[in-house]
Amino acid sequence: MIIARTIDALKTAIKDRRDNGDKIGFVPTMGALHAGHLSLVALAKKNADCVVVSIFVNPTQFAPHEDFDSYPRTEETDANKLESAGVDILFLPTEDVLYPNGKDSDIKAGSTAQGLETTFRPHFFDGVVNVVNRLFNAVTPDIAVFGEKDFQQLSVIREMIETQNRDIKIIGAPIARDEHGLALSSRNAYLSADELMIARQLNVIIHEAAKTGDMDAARDKILAAGFDTVDYIEKRWNRVLAAAWLGKTRLIDNVAI
Ligand code: AMP
Repeated sequence: MIIARTIDALKTAIKDRRDNGDKIGFVPTMGALHAGHLSLVALAKKNADCVVVSIFVNPTQFAPHEDFDSYPRTEETDANKLESAGVDILFLPTEDVLYPNGKDSDIKAGSTAQGLETTFRPHFFDGVVNVVNRLFNAVTPDIAVFGEKDFQQLSVIREMIETQNRDIKIIGAPIARDEHGLALSSRNAYLSADELMIARQLNVIIHEAAKTGDMDAARDKILAAGFDTVDYIEKRWNRVLAAAWLGKTRLIDNVAI
């Protein structure tokens, strides 16, 4: 596995593979990798000849009061996992590499960003499209894989690609869950043992809500299960999507109706 820390090094490594006629697949991540991320890598490998993964905890998608500083950073373990998973190129940019001229947004998220996450994290999707656009410019992938875990994000990225008329195929990966149905997330590392038991109720409740259609009852159940606040539980894109706080951890999940 080639590790590239600059855009020049990345472009050189990718050019070699392109000259070879290889199709380039890309999986952007913020690291602290789990089986969910690795399922995206597996899907990228099925759909491309050369797989590039990036790890970058993107400051522009965090508000000042959010968990940018405490977000888990496990670069060495992550690199080992990716090498074992057969990744070809690992891109590890620093802030200077991705934002050489400052962190102001040069593009805005489209209409799919409205509501849901944006109501509670107004800065979030502008930060996401800003970084993903820069990463796409650097990697120039043929395909890119994003998880359905962040379903609104997947929709925002698809919209960005359509608006820009870019020739990148966006592939959505199913949500990887633990044996109790809890959606895997790097932020699950924040949960205490007691919180983990509560967290595992979220998927059960939203599955039920997808059957009954009663979002108010589901909100009450999430709170009764021990969550502190429910940011939202809503139907959109024929799914039930929810975000709720448990102590200092914000969990999101969604299921098909
Ligand atoms: P993150 O590192 O949290 O920014 O996530 C990087 C990519 O992995 C995003 O496309 C996420 O949607 C995806 N992802 C994270 N957790 C899961 C999961 N449990 N199942 C599927 N995809 C996931």
